Amino acid sequence: MRKKIVAGNWKMNMELAEGLKFASELDAYFKEKPAAAGVVLCTPFIHLAGAADILKGGNVALGAQNCASEPSGAYTGEVSPAMIRSAGAAYVIIGHSERRTYYHEDNAILHRKTWLAIENGLSVIFCCGEVQHEREAGTHFDVVRTQLEEGLFSLPEDAFRKVVIAYEPVWAIGTGLTATPEQAQEMHLHIRTLVAGRYGRECADDMTILYGGSCKPSNAREIFSKPDVDGGLIGGASLKKEDFTAIVESI
Ligand code: PEP
Repeated sequence: MRKKIVAGNWKMNMELAEGLKFASELDAYFKEKPAAAGVVLCTPFIHLAGAADILKGGNVALGAQNCASEPSGAYTGEVSPAMIRSAGAAYVIIGHSERRTYYHEDNAILHRKTWLAIENGLSVIFCCGEVQHEREAGTHFDVVRTQLEEGLFSLPEDAFRKVVIAYEPVWAIGTGLTATPEQAQEMHLHIRTLVAGRYGRECADDMTILYGGSCKPSNAREIFSKPDVDGGLIGGASLKKEDFTAIVESI
């Protein structure tokens, strides 16, 4: 059964007290008005343990935005999937374009992170998407296929079923440019077809595929209405309660 999800990616925003206060407000909101979609907050590492206490027993799940590619040991500054799980999170974003671009994370490392995260009990929100010149050159379908084949498709099916794919055209992230609902739909269908080719039709039909890239209350409803769009990964608009809750409610 395919699950609808709206996940907020706070990125590197909000100090500890501010983030926990915001998590409390969202927890209270979605307790009073349970959403039709699963709601996930992907916070910076510093918020995880406190936010997990706040969100426990409510309707909002918690995620991290990155994890280490090694299980433990001498990796200064890194945070392992086991640590993230022990802090109370259930999800981790892997392969966000900001990680691919600024920290040079390639498909091989993203595959290692994904595998380790799943082995440690986390669900993975795996991001893929093309940059502007790739779309202009018409290679966007091939780019996304390579990201999925190299980053995900060597997982066995039971592990792959712990993955949510987020299609995020890089040219639409934080730019105010949004893919049209038709552009989102055709890429989501492409992704689902690739998943069906690798894991079979039933697995592809069960797969949650999110759209991300300048999603806001004014465009979410139309994008989410497309048959292969199962929700969103929301950056900037997840930092404002009114915007984020309106996006969740447009599912
Ligand atoms: C994101 O960071 O995943 C994202 C989609 O950002 P924004 O919504 O700000 O474009």
